[in-house]
Amino acid sequence: MAGSRKTSVVDGYTVVRMVRHAKGGEPEPAPSPPPRKEPLPAGDGKKAHIGHTVLPTRHTIRCYECAYEFTLTARSPKTYCPKCRTILEWKDVLIQGEWSESVKTAGTIRVGPQGVVRAGTLIATDILLDGRVEGGSLDAFRWLELGAGAAYDPACMKASSLRVAAGAEIKLKGRATFQDVEIFGRLDARLQAGGLVAVRAGGLLTGELEGPRLSVEEGGGLRARLKVIGA
Ligand SMILES: [Zn+2]
Repeated sequence: MAGSRKTSVVDGYTVVRMVRHAKGGEPEPAPSPPPRKEPLPAGDGKKAHIGHTVLPTRHTIRCYECAYEFTLTARSPKTYCPKCRTILEWKDVLIQGEWSESVKTAGTIRVGPQGVVRAGTLIATDILLDGRVEGGSLDAFRWLELGAGAAYDPACMKASSLRVAAGAEIKLKGRATFQDVEIFGRLDARLQAGGLVAVRAGGLLTGELEGPRLSVEEGGGLRARLKVIGA
C-alpha cells in the first residue's frame, strides 16, 4: 500500500479510502454509519458465537534433533522442542534452481520442477520432490511425495511414509519399507508397509505388498503379490 496513514487498526472504511486514494483522488463519500450490532437473541447468547468458533488446527511436530513428537496449535517460524529445548526452525522452503545447502525444518521442503539439489542434507517433516536430486540427501520424518518430475537416487532418501503423486511412475529396487503408502500414480515395488497402503483412483501398484492394511479406491489398480494380514 502506498498510503502513509499509520493505523493500528484497518477497518473496512479505511481500506476503501486507501484504495480510492491509490486510484487517484476520487472524492470521498461520506462514511456510512457503522453497521448496527445485531442484538443477541434473548437467552441464547452461546448460539450467537458459534459462527466465530474455529477449532485450532493441530500441527504435529517432530524434533529433528531428538525425534520427540509434540503438537502445537499456533504456527510460528520458530518453536522449541519441549524435551531437548532445541530451537526448531519451522518454515516451508521452496527450492527452485540449483541448491547445495543443508536445510533443517519442522515444516515442508518442496523441490520444484526446476529445482536441482546438488549437495546438502535436507531434513523436514514432509518433502515434496518434483525436481532432481543429484547429490546430498533427503530425510522426511513423515511424508516423502514423489511427483512426476522427480529424479533421484533412492539410496539417498529416507522417509517414514511415501506418496506417489498423480503422473509419477516410480520403480523401487529391492525391498522398500514404509509406514504408510499412498499411490495416485504408478508404483512398482516390493513394499513392506507398517500401516495403510492406499491405492487412489487412477493409481496402480505392481510388485509385492506385505502389510496390515490395504485399500484400493474405485478406479485404482492392483497387480501385486499380496500378504495383507489385517489389523
Ligand atoms: Zn528435541
